[in-house]
Order: sequence, then C-alpha cells, then structure tokens
Amino acid sequence: MKSDRLFSLLVIAVVFVASAGPAAAYTFDSVGLYQSFDEMTAWAAAFEAANPDLVTVVEFGRSSQDRPLLALQLTTQSPRRNDPGRPEFFGDPGRPEIFGDPGRPEFFGDPGRPGFRDGLGRLESLNDPGKPEFLFTGGVHAREVIGSESVYLLAEHLVDSYRAGSLETIDILANREVWIVPTMNPDGRIQVEDGFSRQRKNMELIGNQSPNPNHYQIGVDLNRNFPHRWSDASNNVYSETYRGPSELSTPEASALWDLLQDEEYFSDMLGAIDFHSGAQTILAPWISPGDFQANPLPPEDREKFDFLADNFSTLTGLPDNRLGYESYGTLPDSFYEEFGTYATCIELFKGPFTDYFRLFNPINQSGIDTVVARAIDSSMFLLSDQAFAFEPETAPGIDSSTLLPSDQTLAPIPEPATWLLTLLATAWLVSLRRRLP
Ligand SMILES: [Zn+2]
Repeated sequence: MKSDRLFSLLVIAVVFVASAGPAAAYTFDSVGLYQSFDEMTAWAAAFEAANPDLVTVVEFGRSSQDRPLLALQLTTQSPRRNDPGRPEFFGDPGRPEIFGDPGRPEFFGDPGRPGFRDGLGRLESLNDPGKPEFLFTGGVHAREVIGSESVYLLAEHLVDSYRAGSLETIDILANREVWIVPTMNPDGRIQVEDGFSRQRKNMELIGNQSPNPNHYQIGVDLNRNFPHRWSDASNNVYSETYRGPSELSTPEASALWDLLQDEEYFSDMLGAIDFHSGAQTILAPWISPGDFQANPLPPEDREKFDFLADNFSTLTGLPDNRLGYESYGTLPDSFYEEFGTYATCIELFKGPFTDYFRLFNPINQSGIDTVVARAIDSSMFLLSDQAFAFEPETAPGIDSSTLLPSDQTLAPIPEPATWLLTLLATAWLVSLRRRLP
C-alpha cells in the first residue's frame, strides 16, 4: 500500500517536471497534416484536369514574390431550372425544340450566351449572367493554415458529392458559380511553411521594414488593404494590422479586386465567406463596432445577415458575436459595400496559446476534421436554397405564372365544385343506365 502511494507520487512528480519544461513548439512541418502551397497548386491543376465539366482554374494574379494567385470556379453546364435566355425550355406550347431538334443550336455553346461551356473547351467568358457567384477565400492571413485547408476541402466536397449524385450539390452547381481561393497570401504561407508560424502579413517589404526573416512583421495585412474605410486602419508599418501605403496597394488584394470587377468572371456576387482562425466567432458587416453603431445597415440587409449568422452559428456551434473588434479595410465589409454581397467572416478555430501554430490551427486529424466540417457546413448552407431561394425567372414576353408567351393563355380550369357535380351526375346516369332492362 505504502509503496503504491510512493509510486503514485513519483509518477505525479515526473509528469509535473516534464510538463513544466519547455514544450517544443508545433510547426507546419512537425504537425505534417496540411497541404503545402506547392501541393495545393499541383492539386488545383490535377483537380481541373480530372473534372473538366465542373472545374476551371484561373490564375488571377501574382504575389509580390511572383507566386501564382489561383481561383477555382466550380459550376455545371447542365440545364438549369430557369434560363432566361432559353424560353423554349419550359412551357413552349409548340415545343419542337425540346427533343431532337436538329436546328437546336442553343442547347450547347450558344455564342450569344456568355459563360456557357462546352465541356472540355474554354469559352469567351466564365461568367453566366444567369448564375450568381459565391466566393470562398482562405489563407488571407498566412498563419491561419486551417482556412486554406477548409476551402480546398470544400472544393473536393462539392465535386465528390456531385459525382455521388447528391441532389443538393447538383442543384447548387447547376444554379450557382462557386469560386474558391485557397491561398490569398502565398508568400506569407511559404514563411509559415519554413517554420515562422507567426507570419500573418504578405511579406511585401514596405518602407523601413527589415528584410530579416526573423522579423515577423514583414508586409501588409491583406485584411486591412481593402477599400471599406481603409484610411481608418493602422498606418504603422510594424503593426500586425498594417493597412499598406494605399488601399489595394498589395498585388494580392488588387488582383482579387480586379477579378471581382471583371464581368468576364463576376457580375452578381451574392454571397461570400472569408475563413480565418485565432478566434471562434462569426462576423458580418459592419465588422467594427464603431462602424456598426454609426452606419446602420438597411433593415432588409441587417435581417439577411442576422439570418445567415444565426444559421452559421447553429451549424458550427460558433457564437454569433459580430461585434468583436475594430478592423477596417476588410474583405467582407468591402465586398458588401462595393458589390452588395452578403459577405461574412467566420473565425473557425482558436487553440491554446502555447505557440503560434497551435493557437491558429488544430494539430491532429480529428481536430482538423471538426473544424473543416464547420467550414463546409456553413458554406453549403450559404449555397443552399434555404439561404437564397431563387424565384423562377422567365424571358421578357413570357408570363411567369403560365410560362407561356404573354399573348397566349391557358384554357380556364373548372372550379372543383363543377368537377364534383359533373362526376356525380355521370355516376348517377351510369347507375340509371344499369338499372334499365
Ligand atoms: Zn485572420
């Protein structure tokens, strides 16, 4: 008994001494569970090659150290519920086009319909004006590796579930253009992969910033470089939240902004989520408390953002604390201000602050799976009919209630009572007839 107790005390002492010693910091390499930037770049090319009917990779710019900025567009060319450019598809009384009309040039590759793809081929534009765009970004802050991982796995989830016949995903990809940017900050990401787990900014040397790689504050905070109230963000080049010398000064932010304004790619960005970590919360415009108080959103937008945030909160278990901190020049606020997009930021994860890698990223597979599920669940909700139900649209000259050309009408349908009376009268006549000899 006594020796048992002594042994227990010894074990406790050993454990205490061991835990009190300096623990080795986790790094990108030591954890070894995340895709590297180079792996993700190779994956994007292979993913596009394997799924030419669904995936297009666009290099929309280069980082300051000349790395590619990649976006993936996921969408399908299968017939949609409502194509305003194709009135024959529903309810054309003559309907000769719908099956086997050799003259049916509209069905594939109508040059008058930008954005319509012919499978393997490229076309003049990726933007089908009939399909709204949704944008999912990760890796704006280099050390938040889990955000990049989440959107890359979202892309895989969409394609896998589409191939498995998920009606939800088929509907999403038929009616929306899903855009995914896995790594907004490649240069900062390389710094993290090299073991500098604290790197947040974009590595672009500005003013007196030291080129010493041990100086952790090199570059501009991309999430302070966008236009919404940019001038209210920090002008201290050494700050972790340095806004940059001018709005959209960084090659990364300006390239994304150009992509969003290019009608070859975007014309109607309806929703967006920018994934971060280091906190666990959901943030919607205006993200800064002062801004939120001073500039109330129109009630219908406030209601929509609250609806989205409440659902994200239910799905992820993350609190819906939209008034977290002052931050100006962010992606979501700028997307909303400029494009009217229902754009939010989801802070997916916060770990214990024993080291920087662990603070921002799960360090084991089950932790990664849990956090990625938060990102995928909230993204799938944003893409669903529950978030944005589309009213059937029809071409000009088509009556939306009958789906016929507006100069035609359907024969009036008899009232139910008339049907019933007719039925009863017929039955009575039949029974009378049977009684006759
Ligand atoms: Zn962040």
